Amino acid sequence: MTSRAIIDADIQVSDSLNLRPYWLPFTANRAFKQAPRIVDGAQGFYYTTPDGRRVLDTLSGLWCSGLGHCHPKIVEAVQKQVAKLDYSVAFQVSHPGAFELAEQLTGIAPDGFTHCFFVNSGSEAVDTALKIALGFHRVAGQGQRTRLVGRERGYHGVNFGGMSVGGIPGNRRMFSGSLLPNVAHLPHTLDIARNAFSRGQPRHGVEFADALERLVAFHDPSTVAAVIVEPVAGSAGVLVPPVGYLERLREICTRHGILLIFDEVITGFGRLGAPFAAQRFDVQPDIITLAKGITNGVVPMGAVLVRKEIHDAFMSGPPHMVEFFHGYTCSAHPLATAAGIATLGVYRDEDIWRRSAALAPAFENAIHSFKDARNVIDVRNFGLMGSIELSSRPDAPGARGFEVHVRAFEQGVMVRNAMDTLQFCPFFTQGAGRFDEAFGVVRRILQTLE
Ligand code: PLP
Repeated sequence: MTSRAIIDADIQVSDSLNLRPYWLPFTANRAFKQAPRIVDGAQGFYYTTPDGRRVLDTLSGLWCSGLGHCHPKIVEAVQKQVAKLDYSVAFQVSHPGAFELAEQLTGIAPDGFTHCFFVNSGSEAVDTALKIALGFHRVAGQGQRTRLVGRERGYHGVNFGGMSVGGIPGNRRMFSGSLLPNVAHLPHTLDIARNAFSRGQPRHGVEFADALERLVAFHDPSTVAAVIVEPVAGSAGVLVPPVGYLERLREICTRHGILLIFDEVITGFGRLGAPFAAQRFDVQPDIITLAKGITNGVVPMGAVLVRKEIHDAFMSGPPHMVEFFHGYTCSAHPLATAAGIATLGVYRDEDIWRRSAALAPAFENAIHSFKDARNVIDVRNFGLMGSIELSSRPDAPGARGFEVHVRAFEQGVMVRNAMDTLQFCPFFTQGAGRFDEAFGVVRRILQTLE
């Protein structure tokens, strides 16, 4: 029987919903359509299902809604904005919200980040950042710097640039013949043999950064434009940088005139107890990519923050000419900027950076209580990011993690699995008490999981 026949025969079509036409992203569509998991409401820390069940969200949306769902101040700001200015042309004309949000973002960014370019997603932020890096070298007279360096297990979205520097084999396989040329990859830093169950930054592994020195020497440092890493790799299962690792990457990049890009799509906006990971680790990149928490996930938006010298280098040529041939129809969309301004206001008014840092130790204790649970081979955490890695079934990698996801949803808890790694991203404001509610369900599932 072909897959097509399986789909049509088995898809559940309820009275109200035809499940066939929608092709879900990053989803096992056939399994989903046989047993759909659907929510139609959200408030605070819970989703609700059409049949009225509450489902506790353990990933703050998809790492994006740290303030809780339907925060009244963000909802109100978007409602007001849509009635006033629904869309503003993005090129050659703009609107006040764009400038206001850019000013506020550069205001919380590390010193020296003076300019902000708006996009609509993390993937677009990454591809924009790579283009800025290549363009910068070109306008600075170093057009031979065309090589980009990513990292194994890195996730930088799904557009061609981000996919090319990304390092998750499953995401690349189908397109392997069409990825960008001139891309090299650093080794990832996961070292379970030496670092299993580390609390916070692992002690071993700073030497993984030395691979960059070898790599640039091999390719000729003067051909390398930029290195892009997630300060803490999220989608690959919360890979925390070993002590000293990010500092060493910075030092090597500086020595060779290579731009360092931090992809802070997940780590930005308080996730690690500071506005950005750059401040939390005290390592200054040259470019920062953002999305997700910029609007608390309410309206799609991304941004690229750059240092002054990078922006200024583009500002040459005849004044009537476009300096950077790049942008999107919905760059700085008025609904997104309204949501962003409201979100930053809540981060400030509700003291979120401090509360995030204050909640992190309780989260660390709660997640490390899985150390002795069945099939658990590692637990990792930093700030309010954490993961539990299960051993894989020899014949079915990913099956164990997927089963936890499905069974937890049935029991009222949303748990995200990436293969056999369970990922957790608590709300900033949820308080320590709620960890038991989520982890209690996960613990009971693991006790009976084959
Ligand atoms: N970069 C990182 C570090 C991410 O975690 C993600 C998404 O999870 C992206 C880029 C892509 O973001 P988006 O899904 O908004 O395109």
